[in-house]
Formats: sequence, structure tokens, C-alpha cells
Amino acid sequence: MIILVMNAGSSSLKYQLYNMSNEAVLAHGSVERIGMDSSIVTHETSGKPEVRVVSEILDHNAAVKKVSEMLTHREHGVLSSLDEIKAVGHRVVHGGESFKQSTLVTPEVKEEIRRLFDLAPLHNPPAMMGITAVETNMPTISQVVVFDTAFHQTMPQETFLYPIPMVLYRRHKIRRYGFHGTSHNYVSQQAAIKLGRSLDSLKMITCHIGNGASCAAIVNGRSYDTSMGLTPLEGLMMGTRSGDLDPAIVPFTMNKEELTLNEVNSMLNKHSGLQAISGISSDMREITESMNEGDKQAKLAFDMYTYRLRKYIGAYTAGMNGLDVLVFTAGIGENSVAVRKAVCENLTFLGVQLDEERNEVRSREARLISTDDSRVSVMVVPTNEELLIARDTYQLVKQFA
Ligand code: AMP
Repeated sequence: MIILVMNAGSSSLKYQLYNMSNEAVLAHGSVERIGMDSSIVTHETSGKPEVRVVSEILDHNAAVKKVSEMLTHREHGVLSSLDEIKAVGHRVVHGGESFKQSTLVTPEVKEEIRRLFDLAPLHNPPAMMGITAVETNMPTISQVVVFDTAFHQTMPQETFLYPIPMVLYRRHKIRRYGFHGTSHNYVSQQAAIKLGRSLDSLKMITCHIGNGASCAAIVNGRSYDTSMGLTPLEGLMMGTRSGDLDPAIVPFTMNKEELTLNEVNSMLNKHSGLQAISGISSDMREITESMNEGDKQAKLAFDMYTYRLRKYIGAYTAGMNGLDVLVFTAGIGENSVAVRKAVCENLTFLGVQLDEERNEVRSREARLISTDDSRVSVMVVPTNEELLIARDTYQLVKQFA
């Protein structure tokens, strides 16, 4: 069965085409700068050279049309007809409390996603544009939506509620939702497979640390707590996002600096985190390089970043009353030897024993980086959200076809 996975952002559309008989990627690509001058289309069919085209792509409908052309292109394509695609799986950021798992797209599902626009005004509308564009361009194909929040819907009230008036939850659903759920779910499954153990018997912390960053406490395969909240601003220090801070900083800064609410919001989301403290970059590679060359602000940014992550690991271990597996994933988690070392070095009291040589190994495979006698297994597991979306789509279509 052939499945197309789509991830639509406000001005971009990324796609991967899977053959589910062996989970091979047949083709992948992206359309960038949708609705701007000179949109860029990049497409690669497995085993053929990458194609790059500059084109006028005015909206998501035109973008999906272009993807369809690429996939069926005589020279660059991989399909003889779009009819070979059995279903399209879409990444949707916010599923609110309505979606606890992936689901087939129906008129009711679309209506519910629209109702959730309020909670994710930047992310859910483009996903809906992607769904509508597929309906227009591939009208007979089944569609599935996979939500970033769904995995965390198992969190109990004591971890998902904020200690503020309950009326705000009842009226506006103000609560912690968590994000990166597809990634936390995928890497926790892969870690258990690699260890040859059942998820049902494990207490795990997964650290998805890339440009955005969150960690999750997972008990028996179910999310118990996660660091992002109502929005992806809460929790860990990130590339340009502050993560946790005293909420009183918002009115205080507005007052002292004569800033509007929008300006403070933009400061916390786009001008904080590693970028703000280092004054150099939001990119951990540049921070680490500058730190190694003796830059004090870069070192401070690195120390704050790893300290805050370690605090969460300690808190979640207490929350779960134990820890069996600690997983690192995403750009920083998969690649930064220095961050993993700094975090693990100070977790020996929990039974974490990092194997320095294993930590230095670079690989795209899931691997153990703790010593054989470490009480906690520490792992690096490359994330693959697209594959999990493809798997969920396949399961649903198989079931309902
Ligand atoms: P992601 O959002 O998952 O693509 O992660 C992006 C982040 O990964 C970048 O901002 C980098 O800081 C980080 N990253 C990628 N490669 C490395 C590396 N070799 N060492 C340290 N950080 C890295």
C-alpha cells in the first residue's frame, strides 16, 4: 500500500511517499515560500538525482498540484498515476481534547479541527488548507490526521491542569496539552524494541531537543507528563523560546519597557532562549563552537540549557517514582555529544552511567550510550515522525477500507 505523508506549514509543504510493504521512502520533497515570489520546489525520487524548480505557487492547492505532478512526472516521478496512492496522512499540530488518537478525515473531523483554530492559530489553518487541497486534487483518496497533542491525552488531571481558576479550563479549555507527541511516541516505541523490552514495564523520559524542545515522562508507554503546555512556549529552554519563567515577567516587562502584549509574546517566542543568552545564535552547533573557543556568554547559554533539561529529568523521575530509560532525540539530542554528556554527568545519583565512547559514536541507528551496568539505560533514538504518521494512516485505512 502506498501512503503519502504531508506536513503543511503556513508557507511550506513537506511530503514523503511510503511503500508500506517495507516502509521504504519512495520519494520526498518540499514546496517552500508558498504565496511568495519564487516558490522553491525540491523533489527527490529514491535512486534519482534531486530536482529543484523555482515556480509561482500561490497557495496550498497549487502546492499539492505541483507535488502530484512531481510524483507522476515521466522523468523525475515514481508513480504512473495518483490512483496508486491509497491514502494521505497529515500532521496536525493541535487536536485539543477532541482527538486522543489519529483518525480518518470526515466532515465532522474537519469541523472539529476548525473549532480548534483558536488554540493553534499559526499551525492548524495550514494543515486544513493541506486537507482541502488534497480533496481538490485527489478527490477519491482517503485522508488521515495525526495530531502532535494526541499522545499526551493520557496525562492525568494533576499533570495537565494549571493551578488557576477552574472556570478558565471549563470555559476556554486552558490546560497543558503538550506537543511533539508523534516523536515522543515513536522514539519510546523504538527504544523499547531496541532494548528488547516491553513498553508496559518501563518508566521512560524522552527528550526531543531540536529547535523546539520538550521532554516527556512516559509510564508503560503512556504519556504521564510533558514539558510543553497550552502552547509550545512552556518548558525547556529552546533555540529562541524562553521556556519556563515567572508569568509576572510579562506585565512587569510591558510596564518597564513600554511594550505591547504582542511584542512581549514575540520576545518570548522569537528572541529568547539560546539566542538571547549567547547573543550569538539559536543553533547549538555555533553555541558549542563558541563555548569551546572561550566565549563566556555561549558557555552560560549552554550551562543554562543543560541545567534546565537536567532539572526536568530529576522532576520527572520523582513524578514517576523511578526511571528505567532516558532517550535523546531530534537535532540536538541525536547529534550533540556535549549536551548529552553535560546532562548525564550530573545524573549519576539517579543511576545514570554514561559510556563516553558510546556517546561519541555518530550513527543514524537507535543505540545505547550508557555502560552495560548503568541502572538507567541511556539511548539515542533518531526520530521519524513521518514514518509514524505513515504507520497510523496505514492502520486506519486498512481497518476501514
Ligand atoms: P531540529 O529542530 O530537530 O532539526 O534540530 C535543529 C537543531 O539541532 C539545530 O538548531 C542545531 O542546534 C542542532 N544540531 C544539529 N546538528 C548538531 C550537531 N552536530 N551538534 C549540535 N547541535 C546540532
